[in-house]
Amino acid sequence: MQEQIEQILIDRNQIAKRVRELADQIAADYRHLSDEASEDLPLVLIAIMTGSVIFLADLVRCLPMMMRMKLISVSSYPGTALSSQGVTITDELPDDLAGKHVLIVDDILDSGKTLMAIRSRVQQSSASSVRTCVLLRKDRPSARATPSEYVGFDIPDQFVVGYGLDYDDLYRNLPDVVTLRDEVIA
Ligand code: 5GP
Ligand code: MG
Repeated sequence: MQEQIEQILIDRNQIAKRVRELADQIAADYRHLSDEASEDLPLVLIAIMTGSVIFLADLVRCLPMMMRMKLISVSSYPGTALSSQGVTITDELPDDLAGKHVLIVDDILDSGKTLMAIRSRVQQSSASSVRTCVLLRKDRPSARATPSEYVGFDIPDQFVVGYGLDYDDLYRNLPDVVTLRDEVIA
């Protein structure tokens, strides 16, 4: 697997440090929620599978508040596709989001179609608030134009894998965010 890596864009130490910073920022912003003892009020995290699974696992363990987690699947980059093929939400959203504070967690903001689709669905469900958190945001106009309250890193407009992100469902277990050699993704 190592010989297929072209370049390490963000290494595991940078990721760990930034994830803690994001968590601190989220915890501070949502502090009023954790003060509430009511079972109705905990934050609801909606994580978009499968790319966000490692980010989610690291992020939530730095968040010291009450929360529920829902995992949903969205298909936009099937198999070996290198660009978004249109968004299909393959799971229903939880039907009890009314009045809840919802934080959507995803791996990477690229065309923005995924986050826009989920965000508007959550808004339609009368959630009290909706915010989004992404580990990576690509340097392209559509990504920058998509609202996201918490962004880990801005990266060049390149195809990346690792730390949960895949190519044909491979490479998710790489601890760093990397680019692959041309011959691997050609
Ligand atoms: P968007 O809807 O913003 O175009 O794309 C979001 C989804 O596409 C991400 O959740 C991710 O699954 C996938 N994606 C976008 N860019 C990349 C990339 O550079 N590498 C990988 N592995 N997946 C990507
Ligand atoms: Mg994804």
